[in-house]
Amino acid sequence: MSIKILQKLEKDLQKFPGVGERLARKLAIYLVTREKEENLKLIEDLKDIENNIFYCLECGAIVETNTICSYCLDDNREKKVLVLQNIEDYLLLSENNIFNGYYHVLGGLISPLKGITPDKLSIEKLIERIGKKKINEVIFALPGTNDGFITMIYIKNLLKEKFNFLNFSKIAEGIPSGTMLSEISIQTIFNSLKNRENFE
Ligand SMILES: [Zn+2]
Repeated sequence: MSIKILQKLEKDLQKFPGVGERLARKLAIYLVTREKEENLKLIEDLKDIENNIFYCLECGAIVETNTICSYCLDDNREKKVLVLQNIEDYLLLSENNIFNGYYHVLGGLISPLKGITPDKLSIEKLIERIGKKKINEVIFALPGTNDGFITMIYIKNLLKEKFNFLNFSKIAEGIPSGTMLSEISIQTIFNSLKNRENFE
């Protein structure tokens, strides 16, 4: 006999990255059988996300109340911008405080195969910020994949046309794709940022 509420929950859970039918069932059973209080806490967390999480209008990072994050408001940071693929990478780097410049979250990578074109990413905003903040170096910390490479080349060429004083660099191996960034040690990321390569 199938239980409709459970089926609905499983369907919703399958929308999570990496969750297939079996894991969805396991998670659903776990949710159904654990302490009710834990689920009520989860409901509160989800409501909180909906009501109190915003994206910085400048860099695209997550912010809690303001519309612009504290990094973007700080004019004393180094005049460098670190270009990242997503919020996950941003959180890891910013939570560990290993960079003193500005961040910029693209919101994805250019991907001909997936039909992701440059206009779907936060590239116009990056151009605007480079001019406004008088940035002198653009550092790419993108995955070392085809899409990561295409994205770097596209953005670099576009920026070169507009700003002739900009330096470009990239972290040596790129951010490993398909690996949770948190699995890489912070020291590794710190080193690859410090020993970044010129990218002209
Ligand atoms: Zn910001």
